[in-house]
Amino acid sequence: MPNINARIEHIIEQVVRRNPGEWEFHQAVREVAGTLGPVLRKFPQYAEQKIIERICEPERQIIFRVCWQDDRGEVHINRGFRVQFNSALGPYKGGIRFHPSVYLGIVKFLGFEQIFKNAVTGMPIGGAKGGSDFDPKGKSDGEIMRFCQSFMTEMYRHVGEFTDVPAGDIGVGTREVGYLFGQYKRITNRYESGVLTGKSPHWGGALVRREATGYGVVYFVEEMLKARGESIEGKTCVVSGSGNVAIYAIEKLQALGAKVVACSDSNGFIHHPAGLNLETVKRLKEIERRRIRHYVEEHPDATYVDCGNIWTVPCQVALPCATQNELDEASARTLLENGCIAVAEGANMPSTPEAVRLFLDSGIAFGPGKAANAGGVATSALEMQQNASRDAWTFDFTERRLHEIMQSIHQDCYETAAAFGSPGNYVIGSNIVGFQRVAEAMLAFGVV
Ligand code: NAP
Repeated sequence: MPNINARIEHIIEQVVRRNPGEWEFHQAVREVAGTLGPVLRKFPQYAEQKIIERICEPERQIIFRVCWQDDRGEVHINRGFRVQFNSALGPYKGGIRFHPSVYLGIVKFLGFEQIFKNAVTGMPIGGAKGGSDFDPKGKSDGEIMRFCQSFMTEMYRHVGEFTDVPAGDIGVGTREVGYLFGQYKRITNRYESGVLTGKSPHWGGALVRREATGYGVVYFVEEMLKARGESIEGKTCVVSGSGNVAIYAIEKLQALGAKVVACSDSNGFIHHPAGLNLETVKRLKEIERRRIRHYVEEHPDATYVDCGNIWTVPCQVALPCATQNELDEASARTLLENGCIAVAEGANMPSTPEAVRLFLDSGIAFGPGKAANAGGVATSALEMQQNASRDAWTFDFTERRLHEIMQSIHQDCYETAAAFGSPGNYVIGSNIVGFQRVAEAMLAFGVV
């Protein structure tokens, strides 16, 4: 088919024109669409049926008001979002983010990414994302609860185990999922376990869901290194963030014999050349909910760098696990100069396009988020399976499933990249695997 590149450029231009100001969404579309030329050449029916154009338009976007009262009785108004992007492969599935930076463009970029990531897992789940510009930092437990209840009071009418199954993301963990589920149950009078994932294992949650994204990233790195005759053991690693993904990536890296020397939060990073003490990080972050700088009070041989760039810490393996666009071109260059051999994205779109280009050109192992952090949503799908059959699997069994899924994601992306003439390029591999699975289902359903 002639002029495929021009056609893809035109699609991207249309997305930019129709979604003004949503530049993270533009970035995500450009990143995927830019790799699909070879697929459109090989399968012209995708272009004829305008599959990319259709995927770029969310099936449904919901924006709603969320009012709540703080502990002093003051009324606050936030904005809630749920973007149900694509349901070709199953019920919409994707997390909810509470962070002041959330607006429609962030939710759409995350929802768009989620379509392909979910498809890459091979599980029957569509793509969605939601959230609010609510800032949970510094809020009391009661305030968090009232906000979550107010959020669900609108969202309950749009979700359901066969419709849309939200989960956590930045600022939304087991506590928030608990409050959201409690309100859903109260309003609907249904104990519908499968309406949310990331629940506590005490009441319908899957064991390993908490660990899944972080463990999965490390399993993916393990596979990338194995393909190059290397292993994780003995490697020096840096992990950004100190939230859910980061903590369990650190845990698995340490279990596999790596040394993790730095992690961060949005205020700064800690560097502990002897290796991080994960118990301290977990207590500070999961229980006391304090800033990472307090780590050095208990470990005087570690240093804290306020507002610093964590990617200046030399390492062989780097895992960005905090947020989007946290690793730019200059940081990528620094990592490469310091001898980094593998980068895997625990966060969604943490590397800027320029950073990704540098990693790919350098030939290091680069695992994009759509493949590398898919273990979280894959385990959410395992949670849905357990809920549907009213079953509860053991930790070991569930972790084995997660491990197998990550291995098969790696293999699919690896083989697809090679089949489309870009061996070792997991960006191309994951985009094409995800796109083709969604595209085939959409073709089968006709023009809907
Ligand atoms: P989390 O538990 O809320 O932790 C987020 C971490 O990133 C915190 O340490 C936070 O620091 C830091 N952070 C957040 N925004 C930041 C910013 N603007 N600048 C610098 N640091 C920032 O969230 P999470 O679940 O670990 O999610 C982290 C990333 O992984 C996100 O991109 C998310 O979309 C992605 N992801 C998560 C899952 C999952 O299962 N949870 C699955 C796939 C992908 P502060 O505490 O200072 O804000």
